[in-house]
Order: sequence, then C-alpha cells, then structure tokens
Amino acid sequence: MRGRLVTLETKTSSSNFIRNIVSEDLASGKVKEIVTRFPPEPNGYLHIGHAKSICLNFELADEFKGRTNLRFDDTNPVKEDVEYVESIKKDVEWLGFKWDGLYFASNYFGEMYERAGLLIRKGLAYVDDQTADQIRETRGTLTSPGQESPYRNRSVEENLDLFRRMKEGEFADGEKVLRAKIDMASPNVNLRDPILYRVVHAHHHNTGDAWCIYPMYAFAHPLEDAIEGVTHSICTLEFEDQRPFYDWVIRECEMPWTPHQYEFARLNLTNTVMSKRKLKLLVDEKKVDGWDDPRMPTISGLRRKGYTPEAIRAFCREIGVAKSYGVVDERMLEHFIREDLKLKALRTMAVLDPLKVVITNYPEGETEWLDAENNPENPEMGHRKIPFSREIYIERDDYMDNPPPKYFRLFPGNEVRLKHAYFIKCEEVVHDADGNVVELRCTYDPETKSGSGFAGRKVKGTLHWVEASQAVPAEFRLYEPLISDESEDEGQSFLDHLNPDSLQVLKGFVEAEMKEAAGGDKFQFFRHGYFNVDPKDSTPELPVFNRIVSLKSSFSI
Ligand code: ATP
Ligand code: MG
Repeated sequence: MRGRLVTLETKTSSSNFIRNIVSEDLASGKVKEIVTRFPPEPNGYLHIGHAKSICLNFELADEFKGRTNLRFDDTNPVKEDVEYVESIKKDVEWLGFKWDGLYFASNYFGEMYERAGLLIRKGLAYVDDQTADQIRETRGTLTSPGQESPYRNRSVEENLDLFRRMKEGEFADGEKVLRAKIDMASPNVNLRDPILYRVVHAHHHNTGDAWCIYPMYAFAHPLEDAIEGVTHSICTLEFEDQRPFYDWVIRECEMPWTPHQYEFARLNLTNTVMSKRKLKLLVDEKKVDGWDDPRMPTISGLRRKGYTPEAIRAFCREIGVAKSYGVVDERMLEHFIREDLKLKALRTMAVLDPLKVVITNYPEGETEWLDAENNPENPEMGHRKIPFSREIYIERDDYMDNPPPKYFRLFPGNEVRLKHAYFIKCEEVVHDADGNVVELRCTYDPETKSGSGFAGRKVKGTLHWVEASQAVPAEFRLYEPLISDESEDEGQSFLDHLNPDSLQVLKGFVEAEMKEAAGGDKFQFFRHGYFNVDPKDSTPELPVFNRIVSLKSSFSI
C-alpha cells in the first residue's frame, strides 16, 4: 500500500477526529458512557498497526471514563488458534492496557443464529444454492447491477427449513449459503444480497464441533458490537462502504442497542509489511525466527528487539488519527525509542568486532578502577568503576594501516583518547601472514587520565574499549529492514525480495558487570546505539544483545 509519506508538515499532529465525535456525543447526551472495543481476529500475532487501534480505543475510553472490551472476532474457525488468543492478551497487557470485558464472538453464535432466523421470517434473508463463484459472478460491478439468484424467492418456510438443515450438518461446505435479501441493483455492492452464513465443517478453537455454519464477518461484527453495548465501533477505512450494511443489520435484526461505526486510516510504515497473512508467511516459510523475530513489525518482535510500551504509545499518539491514508516513516518509531531510553539506559561500552591492544608501558599484572558516569544526561544514575589494565579491546574499524585524510582514530604514530581512561599512541602493529592486523602495541600517557584536568595536548578521536582480562564475551545482533519498499507487492513474491543482510551477528565483548544483565535489560553502548538483552537466547555465559536502534537519526519531530 503506497500513499503519501507523513512528513513534519503533513503529519496530523495528534489530531483525533474521533475524540471530537465522542466528546460531542457525551455532551449532547446521545450516549451516557462511552464503550469501545478492540476486536482482533485470533489468526496471527498483533503488529504495530494493531497497536494504533489498541491505543486509540483504550485511550479514548480512559480519557472519557468509559470502558473498552477485548473481543476476539473468532468467526472463522479455519485460521484461528488459542496460541494467537494468548499472544494477543499478552501484547495488550504489555502495552499497558486493561480491558473491562473479555469476550469471544463465538459465544454469540446462538444469538446470531436466532437473529438470522428473524431476518428469514421478515423475508429479508434466503438460502442460496449457488456456488461462491456464481454468487461472485452475478454480483455486478460498480457500473452495472447484479442479477438476482434463482433461489431468491423461496418461501419463508422453505428458507427456515433449509437454514436449520444447514446448521444440522446436512450439507457439505459450499453447498448452500444464507444471504441477506436487500437490493441486487444497489449502487453499494455490499448491499447486493451479501452472504450472512456459510457451511464450514471445521473444529473451532472455542466452540469445538458445536457448529458447522459460521456467520460472515460483516454480519457478525455489528451484532457483536450491539450485544456488548459498544457505542463507538472504530475500524479502518476499508470498512467505510460496509457501514450501510452494518446499520442495516442492527436495524433489521432489531437489536436493542445501536452502535455506530467510525473509520480511520490504517497505519502503514515504510520498509515493512503489515498484514498478518504476510507475516504468517514469513514465519511459516522460516524466513524469520518466529513471530517475535526482532525484524518483525509485530508487538512481540518489537518487544524482543527492545521497544518499550511507552515508546510505542508515544508513537501512536504522535501519528494521530486521520481520515486519509499515509505511510509513516519508520524512523519516527525509532525516534520515540531513543527519546524513551535517553535518560533511562545505562551508558556502557561494548566492542562488537574486537582488536586486541597491548599497552606496553602499563605495568604487567596491575589493574586500576576508573570512574565512569552512568548517564551524563541523567546524573541521578550515578557512577560506576570500570577496570583498566595492560590489555584492552578496541573496535577493529577504529584502526587503519593507511588512513584517508581526516581519519582521527588509530593509525601508526597517532594518538587518541580512550573514553573514561587515558590517551594512547599507536607504536607498532602486528600483522599475520596474510597481512591482517592481529594486535596493536601502544603506549599510554599517565598524565592524561580522564577527569584529572589534563590540559596539555588535544586529540580529535575518542574510542570506546573494554578491558581484556575481565571482558565478558557477548553476541551482538544488528538488524536492517527485512523488506524494502520497492519489493512490496500483493502476492507471495515479496518473499523472494527479502533483504539477505537483514541480520548481522557479531561476536565481541562487553564490560565485566554486564554478566548480571537479564533478558529485557536495555543499554546504550557508546557509539553503537541502544541494545536489549535478548530474552530468548541470552545466557550468563554468552549474553546476546539486540540492537534496538543506532544513536543518530536524520529524523526529527
Ligand atoms: P491484518 O490485515 O493484518 O490481518 P486485520 O484488520 O485483519 O489486520 P484484525 O485482527 O481484524 O486484523 O484487526 C483488529 C483491529 O485492528 C481492527 O479493528 C482493525 O481495524 C485494526 N487494525 C488492523 N491493522 C491495522 C493497521 N495497520 N492500522 C490500524 N489499525 C489496524
Ligand atoms: Mg482481519
């Protein structure tokens, strides 16, 4: 789905036209209490687009002291599963929301069946023997009317009898459907006798084998909203043309409560697919390490990568609620995690691709403990002591044999500052037989200790490092988008255009005290960005760090 890119100028600045509607409805007395719902189909894990809908529904109800239900829209037995139900509950709670009622649409199957019977008795529904293809082919187009089914004028008695027999399992899948009897010439294609019920002989995750007919989404959804007393039924823009049918169902089924549907634009992000169907393909085809792979735009993937609920909620608030499609730059999401972690995360040093440095004039066997500030932007986080001795690791690309101009890191004869420590100067380079650099031999200047007030020479480069004898080996996982926008298309073929370099794994070292780090702990590694301890794969022997985001971005809010 392509659309305009939401930029600083066009972004909706937290506008929320639905909030205005709610506020007016309360003021005018149209509703006494607002009731919203988040109605996922449990056919996959939730993604960041769902987060937008969750935030919208729950925050509106919170703001106006109303209620929000979590309702599983589980009317399609074939694709649904309790694994998804559980993951959805976990994700909503993790985002920080508490539902008032927890409902399953499938618990209303009995009432839905009764309401369908009422439609038949009113002459507003009939059993059709045509195949799904025939029904589709006779629906007409936007410019031409549809054709009436030869079964459209069955008697009420015959329809009631056939519908009951559909329920009792007399017919095979696809043999019969129940259709609304509205208007095959309606300019709104959705009103051309839409299907209400179909036969599906399948086991349902909640109702088991109790049913072999299942209501269609467009029929079931308004009934679910009405049964629960929902006031504002918020859905995405694709359902705008369904609204007349939504209202028809509520009216003709004589529901005692009338909910109203409002539509907003779904969230699309650059460089990602946002449909459970496509995300499921990535999982099923083993292109990723499950639904919670940190490259996935799922809530569980973002959580595992290291996103916080606060950052996701702030992002959803900022993008606002609009009536027109847009594609939000994923860097905006990244902006919010940086903002959230800036003052919270311990700033520490990690060497992702290590090169050993021996400080030849530092006494052998000696270790000193240097002062390091935990977060210069948040002095309350205090200080810690870090070890320094004769052998350290620096980043391999912080050294070059033959540097280009304006390279201020290490090269033969050059001096740099070690963060929190001393100036060191590169005196000698050890190469292996193939010419690869395997070790640097440097000298340090004891006068230049960090914090000592040394005001002598200036150096331009400051490197991070880790003391070798106490360093903890660690794995680092760096992520790039799985999908580039160019490859986004409708079919399965996006699978063939996945970025082969979306995951880079490096083995290096972190500071000694990181041994204590637990899954979900977040750090800022000097010069590298924000990282999260992987909750699945990290062990005390080999901590695993997922990069959440690098330090800098060209994006500003
Ligand atoms: P998908 O196409 O990814 O399966 P869906 O709309 O079919 O999404 P549901 O489980 O039916 O998924 O959606 C639950 C709620 O989340 C709905 O109200 C839907 O409108 C909303 N929603 C889904 N995707 C987005 C999105 N990208 N942006 C905003 N809201 C969304
Ligand atoms: Mg859906």
